[in-house]
Amino acid sequence: MSDPAPSPSPPALSAAERDELRRHGILLTGLEELYNWGRSHSVWPLQFGLACCAIEMIAASMARFDIARFGSEVFRPSPRQADLLIISGTVTKKMAPQVVRLWNQMPEPKYCIAMGACAISGGPFKQGYNVLKGIDRYIPVDIYIPGCPPRPEALLHGLMELQKKIRGQSISGPEAPRHLQAGGAPECTVPEFGKNDLEPPLNPEVGKPPTLVRGEGAPPLVAMETLEEIRSRILTRFPEATIEVVANPGPAAQHSLLIDAVHARAIAEFLRDDPQLRLDYCSNATGVDWPAREIEESTKTTVPDPAGGPDKVVEQKKKRTVPGYLEAVYHLYSVALRHGPVVLRQRTGNRTDQVTVPSLTPVWRSCEFQEREAFDLFGIVFAGHPDLRRLLMWEEFKDHPMRKDYVPPDDFEWEPTPHGDVLAKARQHYPASAKETPAS
Ligand code: SF4
Repeated sequence: MSDPAPSPSPPALSAAERDELRRHGILLTGLEELYNWGRSHSVWPLQFGLACCAIEMIAASMARFDIARFGSEVFRPSPRQADLLIISGTVTKKMAPQVVRLWNQMPEPKYCIAMGACAISGGPFKQGYNVLKGIDRYIPVDIYIPGCPPRPEALLHGLMELQKKIRGQSISGPEAPRHLQAGGAPECTVPEFGKNDLEPPLNPEVGKPPTLVRGEGAPPLVAMETLEEIRSRILTRFPEATIEVVANPGPAAQHSLLIDAVHARAIAEFLRDDPQLRLDYCSNATGVDWPAREIEESTKTTVPDPAGGPDKVVEQKKKRTVPGYLEAVYHLYSVALRHGPVVLRQRTGNRTDQVTVPSLTPVWRSCEFQEREAFDLFGIVFAGHPDLRRLLMWEEFKDHPMRKDYVPPDDFEWEPTPHGDVLAKARQHYPASAKETPAS
């Protein structure tokens, strides 16, 4: 008797049809989808942080951001019970072997998120002799979250990307994750302390640092225009604008461009979008307080000698009072063209009732919190800012503590320490109790 003819396989359902069935309470799924769904919603991170980024990671687990919504609130104190290693902070070379050891102690399937510039590349300490230039030299990283530090929302976004990645994995075949491959997942090499560096300096199975070509054969670095050139191109585009190059006489000679409030937003957009500049990144925005100050100016004039001798140079000194103002200062770089910084300044009319300048947050999103900080601490009002509230101090707090003439009130809890300056201040503020304080 011959075998019956195989019945034709049912036609595959489209995603829309499956969604429609789901809405009616009918769940059609396969083992792979179910397995990936379960794993992606129960990623338990290791309770482990390294530096400032860890504070943001901790915030992500608190009520406001609530990582529990993603099934990842169970921060495990033991690597044996964790699926996710969040490298949140600077990895020093001294710490790197311990980090790799923790990773090796975590059971598969496991994942790694490099959170922040330090974990990705060494960040602000990249040039340091003691800082690892990226944890992915030793550990396979699934998700990179840029920022210094990335905010909790960025971590949650990274977690959602990780969930997406897990849901897209196969449980068989060559695309299967490493722990389902023949032979299982190998342990990562734990580096040892060598004479001047870690040995090996990276795990070639995992780490692929960028190849830097130096000297001959290196791509030419395009020098950025000078501030004068940038200024003249801005003026060609916005002839009505007022722009001044403010010289910095210090050794750094970091000169800056002072722009007027009317054209500030348009100039900022120009700097961001101009193909030669592409200043796509504002690394820092801050405030500066310039109280009214007296400056001495000297002028030299040549006068004829009444006795008929050679002309004389007479120097006249005059004192002039410069009224006070506040400045918002922005440091701009081009990540695309690898140049910068261009330092931009906006100046208020005074320090009292003309303290508004346009917000540059709509141009560079990274200004948002830093403009809020300048608003809070210096009292600069940023028109058009999406959420201008105090940042460090509470709304009811009076005054702006970074102003140079700010005087702390006497009615807050204040504990003097026995240093000369502080003690003198304490005597002034608390004459009665200061008598009992032993002299320094
Ligand atoms: S990336 Fe920035 S915030 Fe994060 S650890 Fe490094 S220095 Fe700190």
